[in-house]
Amino acid sequence: MAIAEEVATNFARRVVKKYQLIPPVDVEKLIQQYASLKYDEIPIEGADGISVNLKVSGKKPFVLVNSSIPRLRKRFTLAHELGHIVIPWHTGTIIDNVDPNRHTSSTNEYWAIESEANSFASELLMPKEWVDKILADENDLAKAHYTISEKCKTSAHAAALSLSRILPPNIVFASEKHGKVEFSGKTIDTFANVLLADGDFPPTAYMYSERHYHHASRDRILHWWKLPGRLLLQAEDKRDWRTILQDILEDIGIPSSDRHTIMLSINGVFGSANGRVKNSRNYSKATVTAACMQRFKDRNDFSDFSNHCDFEAFIAKRVQDLFQK
Ligand SMILES: [Zn+2]
Repeated sequence: MAIAEEVATNFARRVVKKYQLIPPVDVEKLIQQYASLKYDEIPIEGADGISVNLKVSGKKPFVLVNSSIPRLRKRFTLAHELGHIVIPWHTGTIIDNVDPNRHTSSTNEYWAIESEANSFASELLMPKEWVDKILADENDLAKAHYTISEKCKTSAHAAALSLSRILPPNIVFASEKHGKVEFSGKTIDTFANVLLADGDFPPTAYMYSERHYHHASRDRILHWWKLPGRLLLQAEDKRDWRTILQDILEDIGIPSSDRHTIMLSINGVFGSANGRVKNSRNYSKATVTAACMQRFKDRNDFSDFSNHCDFEAFIAKRVQDLFQK
């Protein structure tokens, strides 16, 4: 977690402690200890809420929440606005626009403050200490995810983000809705590619995972995968890695004129996978191999290559060659 997020989280922990909050937090009642609250239409496209009179002496803060947004988003918005009220350097008037792309004219400072308010909201509604207890009793990450969003009354996406900040590396998640990827993500220091939001949900996602958890509720399936951080593949193929690579490229129909470019980009991905683990304490064939699987698999541009039956033989020989040098 970045330092600013950690600080924002600590402010939320203080509020949780002060009011001895337990999920589901009555955030509407809570914010009224700090500010006047009103629900109404907001005539700014995409605005979920507005906080006014933040740290203005002699004036009580005023919070306006968009009355037309869904119930769970209202709860998160309230918690987010409370973050603006509590965090000392959030001052004046702050308009919350949900879609980062619409705010092309705003500064990075704006997004830093938004990110802090989101960290605050996340911790307030889903306190880490409480989430840790859920995780201690439930190994199935998809079920834990569902339980957190139900008990804390947060959206599935907000609960996934909160969980992903707590769980260790080498874990990815996705929500499947009507055959599409609703949202996706990964834990900190996970190298794997995430599934593209709004794309078709691929039934073959993360086939090399150690565990795949899924939980269906209403029209959504929550998926969590534990990926290997160490992996050893058989290097019995008699060919060297260059020959295997040439054979695969020929097999998948890459014209000779394009092969040089493709090989360069494959080398680039291999180099980046190696680079990600090179400076770690457990640098070994097994950690490089696992990093390669995470970097090559589950991305559209390399799917023919990484799904080829000789792909693993290529990785095995390439890694072997790297360590023989
Ligand atoms: Zn905000």
